[in-house]
Amino acid sequence: MSLRIPVAEPQLAGREIEYVTDAVASGWVSSTGKYLPLFERAFAEAVESEHATTASNGTTALHLALAALGIGPGDEVIIPALTFIASANVVVYTGATPVFVDVDPITWTLDLAQVRAKITPRTRAVMPVHLYGHPADMTGLCALAAEYGIAVVEDACEALGARVAGRPVGAIGTIGCFSFFGNKVITTGEGGMVVTNDAALIERVELLKNHGMSPKRRYFHPIVGFNYRMTNMQAALGLAQMEQLPGFIERKRAIAARYHARLRGVPGLRLPTEEAPCTSVFWLYTMLVDPASGLDRDGLASRLAERNIETRPTFIPITDMPPYQEAGERYPVSRRIAERGISLPSGTALTDEQVDLIAGAVREAVGASQRSWAVATRPVLSPLPAPVAGLLTDGAGLLKTA
Ligand SMILES: *Cc1c(COP(=O)(O)O)cnc(C)c1O
Repeated sequence: MSLRIPVAEPQLAGREIEYVTDAVASGWVSSTGKYLPLFERAFAEAVESEHATTASNGTTALHLALAALGIGPGDEVIIPALTFIASANVVVYTGATPVFVDVDPITWTLDLAQVRAKITPRTRAVMPVHLYGHPADMTGLCALAAEYGIAVVEDACEALGARVAGRPVGAIGTIGCFSFFGNKVITTGEGGMVVTNDAALIERVELLKNHGMSPKRRYFHPIVGFNYRMTNMQAALGLAQMEQLPGFIERKRAIAARYHARLRGVPGLRLPTEEAPCTSVFWLYTMLVDPASGLDRDGLASRLAERNIETRPTFIPITDMPPYQEAGERYPVSRRIAERGISLPSGTALTDEQVDLIAGAVREAVGASQRSWAVATRPVLSPLPAPVAGLLTDGAGLLKTA
C-alpha cells in the first residue's frame, strides 16, 4: 500500500525552525517582537501594498477589514454564494447583511452583472473571493464599485501570489485579507494579514485588532476593539515562509500545468482554467466531473481514496447552510460547481511522480485510456486552446503571463 497523498500539506523546509527558535529564545513570544514588522514588510512588498498588518487568522483579518470600513447594522455586503463560510460569517459579525450573488462559470468568482443587479442604497462593500487561487475580475469590479461609491474587500485567503494584469491580488481593491492556515499558500499555523494602500484604514485596523487601545495613550480605549493579534512566533514562521513564496507559487503552477497536460481531453472532466489577464496560483487544483460521463464526483473520490489519494469536494453554497438558507434555486452555477467539483492533491511538496500517479488514477477511474506521458521527464507543454492560452509555457516559466 502506498502512502496516503494529502490534498494539502505545509512545507516547512526553510528557516522556520531557526526563526521560531530565535523568537522563543528572545523571550518575545507574544504579540510584540522583531518578526512581526519583518513579516509584515516582506508581505507588503510581495503583494505590492503600501501597508500590511498581521491578524490572528484570515477570518479575523476579514472582520477587521469590514469593521475598519465602518460597516455595521443596516449595511449590505455583496459576496459570492460559493465560498468558504468565513466570508459570510464576518459580515454577520459586524451586524451587516450578506447579499449573495452567483459566480461566473469559468472563473468561479463573483459574476459582475449580478453584483450590479444587487446593489442597493444600503450596499457598503462588495467582497470578491479569489476562489481556489483564481482572481475575480478586479478591473471590472473596481470600476463598478467606484461608480457606486462602495468599498472592495478582497478575500484573497486562497490566492497569495495570484495576479491580475501583473498586479498581485490583495491591494487591488480598497482592502484585502489573507489566511495562513496550514493548508494555504503559506502558513503560520493559524494567522492572517490585512493589506491596503490606505494609511487611515490600516491605522483603524491596527486600533481595532489591539483592543481599540489608543496608540498615543496606553490603556485608553476610544472604541470597542478586539484582540485579533498574531504572535511573534507565528510571524517568525511566516517570515521563513515568505522567503520560499516565489518557489511555492512556481511549484503550484507547475503542478497545475502537469495535471493539465495529463488530464486535458479526458471526457467528462472540466479542468480549471486561467482567464486572461489573470494568473492563478492554483491553490487547489479543482475540476468538475460530469455525472453523465458515468462516474460522478463522489464516485471518483472513492476510487481515488482506494488508491490512498485524498481529495476534497468543492465548497457547498453558503445559501445551503442553515443560518443563510434562502428559498429557491437562485445560484445554479454555484450549485453545479458544488455538486461536481473535486480538488486533487495540490501541496507544493508533491513530486512530479505523485502528480503523474494521481492523474493516471483519475484517468483510470473515469475510464480514459492511459497515455505514455509517464516517460516525459520535463513538463514541456503544448499550447492550450482558449481560454487557457497563456497559462502554460514551460515548467519554469509559469509565473509569466503570455
Ligand atoms: C481559509 C479561508 C478563510 C479564513 O481563513 P482562516 O485563517 O481559516 O480563518 C476565509 N475565506 C476563504 C475563502 C478561505 O479559504
